[in-house]
Amino acid sequence: TETETLLDVSNIEVIYNSVILVLKGVSLKVPKGGITALLGGNGAGKTTTLKAISNLLHSERGAVTKGTITYRGERVQELSPEALVKRGVIQVMEGRHCFEHLTIEENLMTGAYTRGDGKGAVSADLEMVYNYFPRLRERRKSQAGYTSGGEQQMCAIGRALMSRPETILLDEPSMGLAPQLVEEIFGIVKDLNEREGVSFLLAEQNTNVALRFAHHGYILESGRVVMEGPAAELRENPDVKEFYLGVS
Ligand code: ATP
Repeated sequence: TETETLLDVSNIEVIYNSVILVLKGVSLKVPKGGITALLGGNGAGKTTTLKAISNLLHSERGAVTKGTITYRGERVQELSPEALVKRGVIQVMEGRHCFEHLTIEENLMTGAYTRGDGKGAVSADLEMVYNYFPRLRERRKSQAGYTSGGEQQMCAIGRALMSRPETILLDEPSMGLAPQLVEEIFGIVKDLNEREGVSFLLAEQNTNVALRFAHHGYILESGRVVMEGPAAELRENPDVKEFYLGVS
């Protein structure tokens, strides 16, 4: 039996400022229930790919000029980020983006704003987020701006969870964090995937950690997918080992 494809990006091109071609025909699929890694070095096009999917390129004078993006078989290219959240897809942006002047709990509550269901369901989900991130429970009354980088990354993921997403687009969760915290956050991503059934598309420069937690990976170089496969196979691939894992 074939796994259901949720997100299907097919041959997209992205141009910035009407001239700079940054994605040169990128295709990838995110299956239901999977963790899919989008790998590649600085400037390879990972963030651009995620922003193309969640329609966040306009503010940067970027546009998808070719190709199609579908979710559950329906074209989503013209949907606003808010409309996409209602379909079950939410992006956690690079650099965490918590509201610094709000408390951790207030930040989490802002994630529930697109929901139509009652207060009871929202407080049950707040409890669910605190169970996955005990540190956030401890820090719930702290202003986000005064919490650590790791706690802010957790807050950003927790806030996304409050919209009850089916798929999370997670941009560079390891950025700027100590190795132990990176392990902790990836461990929680894995738990969310296994227990809550959340699917992930994860952009990461940290190939090593991403390929240990993901099921499938795509490697981007200069706006093109140059390799893809099951994570276990990519980990054993000699080129991946040499150029991305730092062993040969
Ligand atoms: P990083 O890890 O640095 O975020 P990335 O793989 O996510 O890398 P992108 O941020 O998608 O890469 O950038 C891809 C290319 O697009 C880079 O060459 C970058 O300089 C260029 N780029 C990104 N944003 C813009 C913009 N707003 N205007 C023009 N060029 C841009």
